[in-house]
Amino acid sequence: MPTPVSTDTNTSLKAPLPSAAPVTQELPLVTPKLERAMLLEQTELRREVLLWQRWVRYLGIGMLALVSIVFTTNVEGAVLPLVVIVGVYLAIVTSTAWMLRHMRSTALHASFPWVLALADVAAIAGCCYLSSAPQQLDRILLLGLLPVQVAAFYFGRRHGAFAAALAIVAFLVLALFAAPFVDGPAATRRGLVFDVALFAVVSAVLIYTFGSFRQRMVELRTYCKVIELGENVALPRLGTERWPDELTLLGRSFRTMHARLAEQIGSDPLTGCMNRRSLESRLRSELRHARRRNSTVAVVALDIDNFKTINDTHGHPAGDVVLQQVAAIMKVTVRDTDVVARIGGDEFLIVLPDAAWQGAVAFAERLRRRVDEHQFGFAGTPIEVTVSVGLALGRGRDSISSELLLKEADAALYKAKTAGRNRVLL
Ligand code: GH3
Ligand code: MG
Repeated sequence: MPTPVSTDTNTSLKAPLPSAAPVTQELPLVTPKLERAMLLEQTELRREVLLWQRWVRYLGIGMLALVSIVFTTNVEGAVLPLVVIVGVYLAIVTSTAWMLRHMRSTALHASFPWVLALADVAAIAGCCYLSSAPQQLDRILLLGLLPVQVAAFYFGRRHGAFAAALAIVAFLVLALFAAPFVDGPAATRRGLVFDVALFAVVSAVLIYTFGSFRQRMVELRTYCKVIELGENVALPRLGTERWPDELTLLGRSFRTMHARLAEQIGSDPLTGCMNRRSLESRLRSELRHARRRNSTVAVVALDIDNFKTINDTHGHPAGDVVLQQVAAIMKVTVRDTDVVARIGGDEFLIVLPDAAWQGAVAFAERLRRRVDEHQFGFAGTPIEVTVSVGLALGRGRDSISSELLLKEADAALYKAKTAGRNRVLL
């Protein structure tokens, strides 16, 4: 039975119209394209970081050598080994920098953070050994926190743990097995265990904190990259951490910003439906899901019949109300997981994930009938509205492209128009 005409110019639907549908989002998909882009950026960042870090290393080894020579009580004996340590260290830092600038091997570059962490710890251990009595060798652990922090922050937790393990090994080897270079009482076993335990706890906290910070930065970067590549995604877990920090606040801001922008950029202001750009992105992602799950995606193309005449007869504002009402009927007819988009003047597209042929045809027919039976009106004047509908189905196993699916739905819609309008055709 037709619903009565309302004098309300905004709606003649009995049921309350749904408000602007939020632009649907999905979790980030790690596509090969995204993976490649991320890897490329990460490789370039590693190169840049290692290159600027060389200046810190030059400065660090200079200061360490100077302090060692000033504080050692065995100056004569320390000079030559110090020259060797500084020379080898400089050679490693300079040659890796040269290779970073002149050789493009990613595998080679990937080994440099490990090599440099080893060189850092070895240089620290050597300088401390030449300038400290056995009981003061815990300076290796104290200074060892620097390479741990640098490795964990710039290259990740595994690198941080590697630097920490190296510092512990260097400390224990020199304290337990090396003959004292500077005279002084030997450290007790108990003291060594205590030092190592303290260092392990502090390093673990550093590695966890900097590692987690870095990991979340990578998540944020992945999100930005996906957007850069033109996809529409939700933010990952950022902003919901159990132990919040400044990065959590940044994550929350990103969430709010994302929601605002997605709504503005991704939706049609008149009907609250998605717009074409969002729909295409969403359709691509639904097709990827369908391919993985070997399921189907149906696309329904819908166009209002003789809409120009409605505009000409009742005026443009009446046309606008008809557009809003047709959109509202679509929104109450679809499932939560379906997507409704307005892609042109009076043309709409609906994406039905996991819809089989029969279900999609029944849906399209139900939609056409609901529009046909609904009494549209503007300022008390009834308006006759019908729609033509075209339907296309994409099967995951066929690897059909979104462009082709849209084309097929459009061709079916064209057939429905030429066959006399107010019908569903495949
Ligand atoms: P057909 O049955 O073949 O679809 O005929 P039609 O008259 O509906 O033709 P067409 O789909 O090309 O008409 C689209 C019209 O929609 C033309 C344009 O003036 C009108 N239009 C586009 N955007 C808007 C809008 O935002 N509001 C209103 N009121 N009209 C719009
Ligand atoms: Mg039309």
